[in-house]
Amino acid sequence: MTGKVILVGAGPGDPGLITVKGLDALRKADVVVYDRLVAPQLLDEIRSDAERIDAGKLPQKHRLDQAEINALLIDRAGQGKLVVRLKGGDPFVFGRGGEEGLACHAAGIPFEIIPGVTSAIAVPAYAGVPVTHRQIASAFTVFTGHEDPSKPESSIDYDALAAAARLGTLVLLMGVSHLSEIASRLIAAGVNADTPALCIEWGTTEQQRVVEGTLGTLAQQIAQSGLQPPALTVIGETVRLRSAGLNWFEK
Ligand code: SAH
Repeated sequence: MTGKVILVGAGPGDPGLITVKGLDALRKADVVVYDRLVAPQLLDEIRSDAERIDAGKLPQKHRLDQAEINALLIDRAGQGKLVVRLKGGDPFVFGRGGEEGLACHAAGIPFEIIPGVTSAIAVPAYAGVPVTHRQIASAFTVFTGHEDPSKPESSIDYDALAAAARLGTLVLLMGVSHLSEIASRLIAAGVNADTPALCIEWGTTEQQRVVEGTLGTLAQQIAQSGLQPPALTVIGETVRLRSAGLNWFEK
């Protein structure tokens, strides 16, 4: 008998932000393979007789590589088990959920996706920043700063990002360590250095920390404040709404 793999979005950190459907799957699972950014409280929901596997990838120090994770999911589901792959935020937003789904497909293993609340939207919200706002931002763009922008193979098109910044908000995931270079590239591509920007560390959790400035100043402020991953950066006029009255969570 073949089991099944369910890719479940755990939400951005606040354990209450998993979906009802995701929590239900987590409670039923025979095997749970979870990531580093998953709220620890959610792991209490796993059946005590279920197998739990920490696939947590620390920066630099990979515990399980992607091929090993795929093989694990396929192996356990192949044994007839209900496997939940619990991922931070949403599985399809920089979560490699697509790769895991394709691996299941190739192996003939049935799979389902239970989307999650992505940090790209929820973390700004907990800092009091809407990603869109009437007359201020009519689009938002989520991009990754994981790649070193000074590498020739970097695939980020800064002219396209500068155009997106004219339309609305930019949300940068995984880019704290490269922010200085990314900000310079954006400014060189025409984004105003005075554009409001902020960086949020451990958003939606008790440890949430925010550093606020402008595109031109933020990288240096982050270095001074010692902000560490997980953190994301928001660039755009809606950042002003935080101090205009939307900063609800830190109160
Ligand atoms: N699939 C996830 C994103 C995975 S990439 C999602 O949809 O949210 C991991 C990056 O997400 C981190 O490097 C960071 O930029 C961002 N991130 C995730 N959780 C976060 C949190 N609680 N606070 C700030 N940034 C977070």
